[in-house]
Amino acid sequence: MMNRIVLHHTGGPGKPTADDLEHYHRIVDAGGMVHSGRHPISANAPGRKLTPGTYAAHTAGLNTGSIGLSMAAMGRSTWNDPQGSTDHFPTERQVDAFIREAARLCRVYGIQPTRKTVLTHAEVQTTLGVRQAQKWDFDYDPCGKLDSRDPLVIGDMLRGLIAAELTAQEANGRPVTQAPAQIVLRRGSKGPEVRALQDRLLALGFDPRGVDGDFGPGTEAAVVAFQEAHELLPDGKAGTATLTALNL
Ligand SMILES: [Zn+2]
Repeated sequence: MMNRIVLHHTGGPGKPTADDLEHYHRIVDAGGMVHSGRHPISANAPGRKLTPGTYAAHTAGLNTGSIGLSMAAMGRSTWNDPQGSTDHFPTERQVDAFIREAARLCRVYGIQPTRKTVLTHAEVQTTLGVRQAQKWDFDYDPCGKLDSRDPLVIGDMLRGLIAAELTAQEANGRPVTQAPAQIVLRRGSKGPEVRALQDRLLALGFDPRGVDGDFGPGTEAAVVAFQEAHELLPDGKAGTATLTALNL
């Protein structure tokens, strides 16, 4: 139901601000934690009327069908010196988590990482012909390695990382289209699968209140929070859809 992912930086501090949460679907902070914005991805779905304040407005003229993924970074930066001018240049953990989240979104929404479907904000005008106001996320390498300031070069580099991560996720995880698995972890479940679930939830910022292999109320609350953040039925049970979204 979504057509593309647009990659951004917020131009703010290393943690998402209220304004950032209003404008993006997902924001990766400097520590690599993924935050969900105020509006679900479905708020930007094709066919939906985009009434101001009811969707994530992240890319002028291109919000319909577009997932807005941003990294909380680059506050007070200047174009001439992207890395030297800010206290909030993207961290390695942040870029890694950003790539992982982009790949995960590709997987969940069936989006291929092509130039037209996974692109940086700085590529939108050139690649899709939708006018933008001098956006420079990303005409510099957020990994701080390439000297190029060409958005297409940077975009291709990021797509390469996302494609590689997508391949790895597909090899490790269950295909999203797979028939329902037998396993459903719920309140009262115990064992290594529960421990793996708790470990993953904790890593993603949904604290299960203990990684002990025992699915109690804390784990249930964390599963519900994760499900709500990922447009899944928030029933507190980790079945195929939830486990797949967790890349387990
Ligand atoms: Zn942007």
